[in-house]
Amino acid sequence: MIKDYLKKTISEKWALGHFNFSEDDALRAIIEAAAEFKTPVFVGTSEGERKHIGLKQAVNLIKAFREEFGIPIFLNADHTKSFEGVVAAVDAGYDAILADFSALPFEENIKLTKQSVEYAKSKNPEIIVEGELGYVRGESKVQKEIIEIKTEDLTKPEEAGQFIKETGVDMLAPAVGNIHGIAANAPKLYFARIAEIKKAVGDNIYLVLHGGSGMSEADFKNSIDSGISVVHINTEIRVAFTEALKETIKEKPEETTPYKILTPSIEAMKKVIEEKLKIFESINKI
Ligand SMILES: [Zn+2]
Repeated sequence: MIKDYLKKTISEKWALGHFNFSEDDALRAIIEAAAEFKTPVFVGTSEGERKHIGLKQAVNLIKAFREEFGIPIFLNADHTKSFEGVVAAVDAGYDAILADFSALPFEENIKLTKQSVEYAKSKNPEIIVEGELGYVRGESKVQKEIIEIKTEDLTKPEEAGQFIKETGVDMLAPAVGNIHGIAANAPKLYFARIAEIKKAVGDNIYLVLHGGSGMSEADFKNSIDSGISVVHINTEIRVAFTEALKETIKEKPEETTPYKILTPSIEAMKKVIEEKLKIFESINKI
């Protein structure tokens, strides 16, 4: 299922959006936008996000949304940084896992990612496992300081080839100049490096671009042309939620009904997601 769409991203040159959530309103915004545009979509929870909403709760909410909207929704355990975390997400019923051991030395990263793939596939042969190689700096927030990307942080194509062969991952998150969060300086993406990595991993391994918040339309288009299949957006959704919430509370300080206070935030998040889906050209792909 997921693989059918991933294959199409390559043959038809578009990308699946991956949007993060930590509560039901962001999830509703993502899924309503995706349903309107008839687009398959990844939804993800980082370790902090899934701790907030609960793993079983996330899995069952997705089930309910699938039934209601009838679109393909894939739940990803984003940036899972321990083997125990991988086990918990697989056992809870996630559709995809990012086993992220990119902070460890190359050999250690391979060892733990391989172990994660073996466990995940033994429990669910359909599950998609992503590995991360190279160091994607920053976290999902508006960055105040300029983050320098050093060329040694970039993923090396030959290491990417070795990594996918030894680990058995389905997807790879490379470091190609991208930064998590909304960068203080416009990140310079290395499109030629994306293309080289894609060539090294081959057609059946899919590349994921992290840190999509704040990137330009041209950045996305060039990334997709160079071989990116999935783009992650998190911080822009967080900012839309928070800005709308602050505005609503300022405008209606007497309001105490949560669903009334939160409705403008849902609309604001939906707008961000719709803009991205258009740029990724994932509309009418179901
Ligand atoms: Zn990420």
